[in-house]
Amino acid sequence: MNGFGIAVFLVFFFTGLSQDLVQAQPRARDFSRPYHLDQSFIPPLTPEDLRRMNQANIAARDISEAEEFVRSSYPALDQAAQEYLAKAGLKFQTPVIQYYGYRNLKAPSRCGESRLDNAIYCFLDNTINFDIIYLAKVIRFVKGKTKTDGKYAAMTMVAHELGHAVDYKWARLVAGVGSQAWGILYELTLERNADCFAGAALSKIVIDRTRKVAVPDREKEKSIALLEGRLALYAVQGDRSDRYYPPGEERMRIFQKGFEEGTGTCYELKLEKVK
Ligand SMILES: [Zn+2]
Repeated sequence: MNGFGIAVFLVFFFTGLSQDLVQAQPRARDFSRPYHLDQSFIPPLTPEDLRRMNQANIAARDISEAEEFVRSSYPALDQAAQEYLAKAGLKFQTPVIQYYGYRNLKAPSRCGESRLDNAIYCFLDNTINFDIIYLAKVIRFVKGKTKTDGKYAAMTMVAHELGHAVDYKWARLVAGVGSQAWGILYELTLERNADCFAGAALSKIVIDRTRKVAVPDREKEKSIALLEGRLALYAVQGDRSDRYYPPGEERMRIFQKGFEEGTGTCYELKLEKVK
């Protein structure tokens, strides 16, 4: 970068920072959402946030957009989770969503300090914790490929974590915490179930929202949701796999199975893996 480039970069860098500081106060109320811990003061972005954002090519508006996608879709995702569990005669308390990884926000999770570039469901305090810069990165990756708005990518990420909450409730009641069966259920099926639930939840939401829409438009919306959801999972997984996570291609397949066949297939998936 030449001298002029550096000057332009610094102007944008600090303009973005000062705008963010100016905007911080009016946005304060938005942060105290029913499913957030009460945060009456939003700390400003830190130099470390700006470094990470710069590295990932993420702007403050990308973060606001990610927050808005989560805020606007969470009630519908929660509804999908409640309906899923209701089939098994269960009900659960909606997990609280918390952001970390910016503004000096540490996830106050009983599951320990969450590492960056991650999201985690903590069953000890029933919270879903997101590094918001990571979420914004995934949305940006998907949008860059699809030229769509990326909201289904955000919903997939939230639905996956919600899937863990659902799974925990299911496994705890069906098998009993601490039992060997619970351990097997929890370890072997964890990530697959969450991906399956994410697919089923997104498909239900798209169908519900497009009931009065012409068939071609509904099908288009479904294909966007399916594409964004699968790409989001691929973005976070790539071709790697380990004891818990299947490779990205398999995660996309499981998401699609949930999307096309509904939540019933996620139960079957669970049982199939336990055998
Ligand atoms: Zn997971």
